[in-house]
Order: sequence, then C-alpha cells, then structure tokens
Amino acid sequence: MISEQLREQVYSCIKCGLCMNTCPVYRQLYFEGASPRGKVQLIKKILEGELEISAYFSSLLHTCLLCETCTVNCPSGVDLNRLMKAARAEVVRKLGLPLEKRALYSLLSRNRLLPFFMFWGRTLETPLRSLILKEGRAGTIPATRLPRLNSRPLLDQYPQIVSPAGPRVGRVLYFVGCATNYLFENVGRAVITTLNSMGIEVIIPRAQVCCGFPAGQAGMRKIALRNIRQNLELFDPGDADAVVVDCATCGTALKKEYANILEEMGENAEAARRLGQKVQDISEYLSKLDPAKYLKPVRGRVTYHDPCHLLRSQGIKEPPRNLLKSIPDMEFVEMAGADVCCGGGGAFQFDHPDVAAGITKNKVQAIMETGAHFVATGCPGCRLQIHGSLGDESIKVVHPVELLALAIS
Ligand code: SF4
Ligand code: SF4
Repeated sequence: MISEQLREQVYSCIKCGLCMNTCPVYRQLYFEGASPRGKVQLIKKILEGELEISAYFSSLLHTCLLCETCTVNCPSGVDLNRLMKAARAEVVRKLGLPLEKRALYSLLSRNRLLPFFMFWGRTLETPLRSLILKEGRAGTIPATRLPRLNSRPLLDQYPQIVSPAGPRVGRVLYFVGCATNYLFENVGRAVITTLNSMGIEVIIPRAQVCCGFPAGQAGMRKIALRNIRQNLELFDPGDADAVVVDCATCGTALKKEYANILEEMGENAEAARRLGQKVQDISEYLSKLDPAKYLKPVRGRVTYHDPCHLLRSQGIKEPPRNLLKSIPDMEFVEMAGADVCCGGGGAFQFDHPDVAAGITKNKVQAIMETGAHFVATGCPGCRLQIHGSLGDESIKVVHPVELLALAIS
C-alpha cells in the first residue's frame, strides 16, 4: 500500500505543468499520459478509486526514466520520484511482472546463483551474444558495442583488506556493485589503486550483493528487501571514514533508497539511515583528499555527463568535475545539456528503445560538439548507453576515477 504520507503528495500537485517541458520522455512523446503531471493525476484517480490499476496504467508508469527532473523542478515539492516508485510496487502487487523480468531481478538477489551464471556467461559469451540478442541489439545498443564480462568478478580479484604501501591516513569500506564486479573491472581497480596511493586502506566485504535498486525500481520490493538486509548487515561502517561507491545508482540506493523502502514497508529504517550518512560517492571522497598533489600530467580533452542518480538524487555536481580539472594538462570542456538524462534509465532503453534513442541522440551530438577525447561519467548505465550510441571510436567513455588512476600511475 502507498503510505499516507505519500498519498498526500498527489494533493500538492496544482497542475501547473512546469514539470512537463523538462521531462525528456514527454519531450519525445508529447501526450499527457507520458508527462509527470499526467502520471500524478492518474495515481490520484487510482488512490481515490475512480480508476483501476490496469496494464495500460502500468505501461504509462513505466514510460518514465525515473530521472528526477520533474521532482527537482516541481514548485509544489511533489516527490514524484517516490510516488512513482511506490505506485510501481502497487502495480506489481496487483498485476505481477513478466516472467523474464522476475527471473532477472531474482537472479540479481541470489549471491550464489549470480556468479554461477556469470561464469557460464563468460565461457559461452561469444556464441550467446549472437544467439540471444535480438537482431544483434540489446535495446538501443548494438551487440558489438556491449562490454565484455570481466575475466573474473572483481570481488575475487582482491583480498578483503587492501592496504596502502605507505602510511595509512584513512580507511573506507568499498561497495563494489554489480557493474564493476562483472563488467567494468578497470573502474574497481582504479578505485582501489587511487585510494591506496593516497594512503587509504580499502575494506571490501566479500559477501556483498546487488544493491537491490533495479528490483526496487521495477516495483519488486520483496526481492529488493533481501538484498537490503544482507548489505545492511555487512556495511556497518564502524570507525571507517566512509562507505565509498563508484556507481551513482548504488550510491543512491545506499544513501537514501534503503531507508525509503524500509520506511514505506513499515520496517525499522534506523540502520539504513545510519549507513546513508556514511555513504559517499568516490568523487566526493577523493575530492576532499587534495588529489592534485598525487597527479602527473595526462594530455587530452575531457567532457563530463551528469548521471541523474548523482546530480539529482544525491546533489553531486562539482566533485567529479573538480577531480577531472585537477589532472595537469587535461583540458575540461563542459558539454551543452550535461545535466540532461542520457536516455538509458536502466530497463527503460530496453522497453522503449525508440524513445530512448531520440533522447540519446541529443546527448551524443552535445558530446561530439566538444571535440573531447574522453567522456567521463560516474554511472555504468549512462556509460553503456553513451558508449553504445557513440559512432566515434576515438572517443572513450570512462569513469572519472579511471582518468585519475591514469594520472597517478
Ligand atoms: S510541476 Fe508539480 S505541481 Fe506542477 S504539474 Fe508538475 S507535479 Fe504538479
Ligand atoms: S522522472 Fe524524468 S522521465 Fe519520469 S516523468 Fe519525471 S522528468 Fe519525466
């Protein structure tokens, strides 16, 4: 059930429509049901019993990137983000989810099954790619532009404690996340190398599981709850300086979604709130360590794309830019519309490839106009979407910390 506190939100909507022009989905589709205002009004009618939850209502609710642009632009303070997620959970409770999605989200919550599947995925990667991916694409992304799976999960590549060679000046817990663990091992290596080079000890709890955000966002809160409980047990920060995260989405989950979901499910959210206060995106943590004194010149031009889950969900704008600007000889160029969603939106680009492609096209054009050699972004979902849509092989999509590690080596 949607909580009383959230129900009240629908009555704060004054139907001004200020959320519509900045909604990337509405700007592609131009119909009321796809707009944030339309969704709030539909949710209101469902709550008041004037409409029934239906497959069509579900499809409209999922025609949304959950980019939070509407939430931050609403003058009445309607928390559309929480409202739409809670409504999705209601839809799943009533209508369920398609089998393939249930299977995928259940897999993400099984810490024994997932590595097993990934092992066979790596072994059979080449034939599977051509067999499974419809018409050689995954949503908008051509199969040839998908990253290869890591040689081994990152969690198997390091001991639980990785200490700096020199004197220790700090200690963090590292939440690795599925994308770094299975797809982008270079990001994880860069996080650990950079932290160690600055005298920070890195503790990597081995039994950590998927943050649960994908399942929670799809409305499968019971599955998300399993992951939330396990991660809360493992990530008791104790005397660590911070719990660092290299993925914008995992960071949002740990910083605030855990507490929101537990609260809305009537569970005790105290431990989640305590954890949330200790979580820092890697860019936040590193930018406080005066990184410039560790860096050698790297020649090139870099631009930066703001992930929705860093900028709007966590309010992080300057730290990743400051890190990039601190690299000697690296020219930083701001792209037009850096804060606009890339069109990925997790499962969105699979479910709505045409809408996603229209949004991503603008992002690619803005990147090309900068003449940058690197596009940095702190979200693996944005990375997949941007890399998958860039036609230019000379532009590399990286995490900011990868460029930092390059400047340290
Ligand atoms: S900006 Fe806020 S108040 Fe205005 S229509 Fe959108 S949700 Fe309603
Ligand atoms: S979250 Fe983003 S895509 Fe969804 S309704 Fe709001 S602005 Fe539109």
